[in-house]
Amino acid sequence: MKKTCFAFITILLLLTAFSLPAAAYINRGTVQIHCDTTALTLAVGQTVQVPYSVDPAESLQTQGCGMADCPDGCGANCLSREGNCVCVDTVPVPFYTEVLVKKIDERIVSVSCDNGIATFQGLAPGSCTVNLAARLREFTGSSVDIAVTVEGAGTANVWWIAGICLLLALILLTGLRLRKRVRG
Ligand SMILES: [Zn+2]
Ligand SMILES: [Zn+2]
Repeated sequence: MKKTCFAFITILLLLTAFSLPAAAYINRGTVQIHCDTTALTLAVGQTVQVPYSVDPAESLQTQGCGMADCPDGCGANCLSREGNCVCVDTVPVPFYTEVLVKKIDERIVSVSCDNGIATFQGLAPGSCTVNLAARLREFTGSSVDIAVTVEGAGTANVWWIAGICLLLALILLTGLRLRKRVRG
């Protein structure tokens, strides 16, 4: 019993020790993504462009690991005054905000994000939630949900075909009646 207890405490201590460096990651705040569109309806084959914005769009950082507690162990000189890990290089370079499609039903819709424009294309009838997530190194990410409904372009066609068939049937019936009258 004592042994089990000891093993348990050891594991707990090890877990705590290993989770600490992760908590030491530099956090520069939240990179925000904003999109006015929360719901979108489009037809199969239709393409719709939805604008979005991110803040910040870029951040100057050195290329080090970004951990206050550097695993490379370069000591007290690891971080610059701005809190950059300088292990790889001391010159800051711009890192750009990425927008990723984190949640989607790929059978219903396809989405690509580029330079403030999300391009949606309807693939098959149905509805799903599309989650667009902004990611920037050393920032906490954020995301937006867009409810997408794809309507079948086929539905409209079916009604047209049904209407035309009905019209043809009526013309045919009228023609037959006229013939009967002529004969009689
Ligand atoms: Zn480092
Ligand atoms: Zn370092």
